[in-house]
Amino acid sequence: MPRFAANLTMLFTEHPFLERFAAAAQSGFDQVEFLFPYEHPVDEVRAALREAGLEQVLFNLPAGDFAAGQRGIANDPARVAEFRDGVERALEIAARLGLEPFDPSFTGGHLRALARGSRAPVKAFLLDQKRIAGVGNIYADEALFRARIHPLRPVGSIARAQLDALRDAVVEALEAGIAAKGATIDDFRDPYGVQGSFQDQFLVHLREGRPCSRCATPVIKLRAAGRGTYVCPRCQKAPRPRRARRGP
Ligand SMILES: [Zn+2]
Repeated sequence: MPRFAANLTMLFTEHPFLERFAAAAQSGFDQVEFLFPYEHPVDEVRAALREAGLEQVLFNLPAGDFAAGQRGIANDPARVAEFRDGVERALEIAARLGLEPFDPSFTGGHLRALARGSRAPVKAFLLDQKRIAGVGNIYADEALFRARIHPLRPVGSIARAQLDALRDAVVEALEAGIAAKGATIDDFRDPYGVQGSFQDQFLVHLREGRPCSRCATPVIKLRAAGRGTYVCPRCQKAPRPRRARRGP
């Protein structure tokens, strides 16, 4: 079945922009795109998306003065700085509009679709805010431990059942953090309290040298995605190094 995203710049124009999301959802769409989000506060766009239960699939970089006929500035050597600023702004907005783990649309199937063909180590994949917004360093470690996946495994090589387990583990880790009102060293993006006690309940994060809660093997620390990363070397099997080809 083909899937269609409603373009809210061109459709439902009888409504003001922020009301077009609900109109699209009522017409049966589950994904939307539009030309530009820049004229509206990103929180309002985000709220409209979430309330309508829609997924954002596309918008464009700032294109210059659109009303004056400009249709992009990437080819103008005099506007490199403006272009670069535009990319940063667009990435920030994309992260805010990205899929979050508590969205009903964050399913095992969605995670598998994002992961398909990717050689990125799974921890870097989880931390990539453009793909899944809101999973920080602590939660990535805790989720990977729960799902028994080594953080350096290429995400595209992880079996279907394990990716389904990872989806559940991400949600469980975030729920555990929220139940504990966050950690005082929390890096979850939303401020679920700076007085939290989640750090006392970490299963693996910051537990270097202490026994794994499942198998009692000492937890080790390594680097993944440029971040301090904690794993149980027994529960989370390291990916096998690619065998060097023997010469003749
Ligand atoms: Zn273990």
